[in-house]
Amino acid sequence: MSDVTSVTLTLGTIAAVLSIPCWIIFFSGAWRMVQTIRLGQPDGTRLFPILPRFKQLMVEFAAHTRMNKFRTVGWAHWLVMVGFLLGSAAWLEAYGEAFNPHFHWPFIGDWGPWSFLMEVLGIGIVVGIIALIIIRQRNHPRRPDRMSRFAGSSFWQAYFVEAVVLVEGLGVIFVRASKYAVYGGSNVEYFFTRWVAELLPAEPLLVSIFAVIKLFSGLIWLLIVGRYITMGVAWHRFSAFFNIYFKREDDGGVALGAAKPMMSNGQVLELEEADPETDSFGAGKAEDFSWKALLDFTTCTECGRCQSQCPAWNTGKPLSPKLLILALRDHTYAKAPYLLAGGRKDMAGEEIGLVDSDGNPDEAKLAKIPEDARIEAGRPLVGESTGDPATDGIIDPEVLWSCTTCGACVEQCPVDIEHVDHIIDMRRYQVLIESSFPSELAGLFKNLEVKGNPWGQNAGDRLKWAEDLSFEVPVYEGDFGDTEYLFWVGCAGAYEDRAKRTTRAVAELLHIAGVNFMVLGTGETCTGDSARRAGNELLFQTLAQQNIETFNDVFEGRAEKQRKIVVTCPHCYNAIGNEYPQLGGDYEVVHHTQLLNRLVRDKRLIPVAEPADNTTYHDPCYLGRHNKIYEAPRELVAASGATLNEMPRHGERSLCCGAGGARMWMEEHLGKRVNVERTDEALATEAKKIATGCPFCRVMLSDGVTARQESGQGEGVEVVDVAMMLLDSVKRGLPDTVTVGSKRSPAKVAVAAATAAPKTTASMVPAEAPAAPASEEPAKAAPAAKKAPAKGGLQMKGAKKAPGKAAPAKAAAPEASEAETPAKAPAKGGLQMKAKKAPGKAAPAKAAPAKAAPADAAEEASQATPAKAPAKGGLQMKAVKKPGAKAPAKAAPAKESSAEPASAAPEPEAISSEAPADDTADSGASAPPKPIRTGGLQMKAKKAPGKAAPAKASLAEPAADEPVPAEPAPEEASTTEEKASEPAPSTPPAAKPRGLAMRPGAKKPGSKQ
Ligand code: SF4
Ligand code: SF4
Repeated sequence: MSDVTSVTLTLGTIAAVLSIPCWIIFFSGAWRMVQTIRLGQPDGTRLFPILPRFKQLMVEFAAHTRMNKFRTVGWAHWLVMVGFLLGSAAWLEAYGEAFNPHFHWPFIGDWGPWSFLMEVLGIGIVVGIIALIIIRQRNHPRRPDRMSRFAGSSFWQAYFVEAVVLVEGLGVIFVRASKYAVYGGSNVEYFFTRWVAELLPAEPLLVSIFAVIKLFSGLIWLLIVGRYITMGVAWHRFSAFFNIYFKREDDGGVALGAAKPMMSNGQVLELEEADPETDSFGAGKAEDFSWKALLDFTTCTECGRCQSQCPAWNTGKPLSPKLLILALRDHTYAKAPYLLAGGRKDMAGEEIGLVDSDGNPDEAKLAKIPEDARIEAGRPLVGESTGDPATDGIIDPEVLWSCTTCGACVEQCPVDIEHVDHIIDMRRYQVLIESSFPSELAGLFKNLEVKGNPWGQNAGDRLKWAEDLSFEVPVYEGDFGDTEYLFWVGCAGAYEDRAKRTTRAVAELLHIAGVNFMVLGTGETCTGDSARRAGNELLFQTLAQQNIETFNDVFEGRAEKQRKIVVTCPHCYNAIGNEYPQLGGDYEVVHHTQLLNRLVRDKRLIPVAEPADNTTYHDPCYLGRHNKIYEAPRELVAASGATLNEMPRHGERSLCCGAGGARMWMEEHLGKRVNVERTDEALATEAKKIATGCPFCRVMLSDGVTARQESGQGEGVEVVDVAMMLLDSVKRGLPDTVTVGSKRSPAKVAVAAATAAPKTTASMVPAEAPAAPASEEPAKAAPAAKKAPAKGGLQMKGAKKAPGKAAPAKAAAPEASEAETPAKAPAKGGLQMKAKKAPGKAAPAKAAPAKAAPADAAEEASQATPAKAPAKGGLQMKAVKKPGAKAPAKAAPAKESSAEPASAAPEPEAISSEAPADDTADSGASAPPKPIRTGGLQMKAKKAPGKAAPAKASLAEPAADEPVPAEPAPEEASTTEEKASEPAPSTPPAAKPRGLAMRPGAKKPGSKQ
């Protein structure tokens, strides 16, 4: 049957002709998008393995697992997505229906099941899009008293897409209804549209008119979308499939846990071989990101799920992960014409891409590039607002450094955008190349580099936590024997008073359960987690290499599965378990909550559960989201007899405590403090105990509770580690004075360790005894000096003492141990950066006192230490060469360092274990610290690569390298006498409306969602 008329022919012809430019614009837009994405750095890790990746793509497509975390949205979006894919068949059918009302696809068009499917599809599209329209309106930022995940999203684009989808869905329904009215059909296939048909005349032309309307809405969509290729709300219909397939983890996991290694030109950057002239050190410009990152930016749907979970955004900071991604996307696409034309700038901002034969900028070629693109190319990726669009930074430093790397954004993003990796990459560039970072981090970096811990405490104090235990803690002395676990105490566990109580509780529980364990004692060095999250990859790798070397020494000869390490800090867990494998260190790492839970299940620990106070549990980000450990700590809370009152945000949607991403060491000036926000949630559960499994979380929440208690809230509430709760309940079942359940009595422990190491009395931590006896037996430490020099890392061994070795110099003169770390010359591996010497490092001077060994010499080394540092902050980039820098410049610092008396060095930043408390005085009163711009390579402002290097003043300047240890508060006072960290200002300082342009009134800082 044919109802083709001159009118339908005309309609069809008009639609066909008009569709030609629409399709051309659409495909040209898609091509520009592909070209732009290809501007990114290569990354060959994203394609294989094909089958697991494809399987994950199909799972996400079919089950919408991430989207379903927001209940209503999940099914509604699924209907719209399927409607778009299958509905495209109905839409293309409209070309034929415009000419001939009775047209349908050959073979399947009049097939019953297909017809039924189209019926369901039309209804599904309309129902789904109406639900999404309602959700968007309910979350509209027009109501400033509630947070909106759509704040900052483009609304005209969203409305346009919603309108097109609605018209498409209605088009399917009305075309079918008008066809039914004319031609009839099965009541089953037309179970809904036959009722609509009752309202329509039996007019064939009406079919063509509805088909053309449907067709035109699609053509307008092609036109607009092709014109605006940054319209993620529309383009994600295509790009999301690729983005999910190419996600970082091929097992379907999200891009959390380990940070992405620092890549350049598609390869993991070997810092010892890296050249700042040709390599990317993180991301300092749009084209430093990988193509996958540019695909990430392209794919963002502006849904704001990430924003709704972000602790920074939720407490009034200027950071929104969504707005950050959008800013990077808009900048990249605005700059793309310049890059595609061949434009490139060096680190000094001078044109090196479009140049004439003399190397001068080729003005003729540059003039052909749109002015907007040229302006965009001159803007720094990270920089403060200057008021001049030509020099404004794309990302404000306040935005970049507000991130706690909690991973909530990554966990929620339905299209697998990898925010945290991008943020860390930008921090890497700021730290390694620009030497621009919050001033507080300078102290952190120095303490880590010189002392091996963030607090700047002496290595010799690492075992103080064990001094008041009723049993002796075995310390590794060169023979691990048949010991099952290496108990990695961590810096917080060794130095921070609250965390020390957790360390003791875990040690006691392991002892009671008869677990055969050892600690490294003074052989531990910070894992480098904070350094890596702060962008200091160089320092992270140095610390990591040192620890890997130590671990390999401990576990020598053991199979990988037998290299067991138990940790109490999730950050250590993540670094050792997930990141050290990137550097060749593979171990079986277990968090103490996992091990203790296993011991309870095995009945090696028998808690006596009495009715206890209600308890709420705070999921540490690096235990939960980053490593998916949610149940073990909760089971321990239950085993201790407590009733668990969950906070509204828990599990994978838990709110960060505010300490991650090196935020622990930074001031918090804007909005409400994150730890207080989390504390408020915990107090609202009316629990008497707030349990957690992370020393940093415990510090932050304790400070939050203290702050609230000062204003009369949360009286009697205590913040504890789950290990302490378990210990209390286990002790209930033990006879007084007897450590029942231990398979090795304290005496056995001592004997075992004595057998393992000849200098047991020096290395064991005597129960409730000072360390002084160690100094009385210097001869016993001698074997340590016989160890062969190690190859990598910081050469902890070699001529210096091995980790954990009780060198006589150390006991006699505690400062000697401090001298050892800086005295170590960079060895093979690690960073070493082409074996050049570190700027400002006086290597020869360091070696001498280390070999001298006696306490006096060590003392000397300690004194000399401060003078050796590179002058101004930054990374000191040990051997990274400055482009074009001349070798002689390096000699200067050596002279300076030996000549410069330590006392002349300025005091470095102190990192306090009570950092939040320090904020009390500052918060709201002091201006946010400006990022310091000292030291490092400082290439950008100095010179263009290849040009004559100016004398590097910073290399010759003396600098403070001696950390100022922050005195931890007395242990007894740790929970009761801590000072409030939260001033609870009635009006928190507003986040600066710049950088990401957070809309004023979009949300009330600190208000809950
Ligand atoms: S990692 Fe956490 S703090 Fe950082 S942007 Fe994502 S949600 Fe916000
Ligand atoms: S980054 Fe992901 S979660 Fe955030 S707005 Fe974009 S698509 Fe949504």
